[in-house]
Amino acid sequence: MDEQSVESIAEVFRCFICMEKLRDARLCPHCSKLCCFSCIRRWLTEQRAQCPHCRVSLCHPSQSAVVQ
Ligand SMILES: [Zn+2]
Ligand SMILES: [Zn+2]
Repeated sequence: MDEQSVESIAEVFRCFICMEKLRDARLCPHCSKLCCFSCIRRWLTEQRAQCPHCRVSLCHPSQSAVVQ
């Protein structure tokens, strides 16, 4: 039942920007919110260089940690 547990984890971990399942997940080092790499990159380039959740400065999406 490994496949099912992976599925339910994906249901729990949703991007807080697009509210979809995480794709290429990134983690805010300050608030530990998870979002897609494409979502945070778009936010940082088109909106502002801050985490949309906690507003900590994030100059570049590479500053957010890669979730292993
Ligand atoms: Zn997203
Ligand atoms: Zn944050």
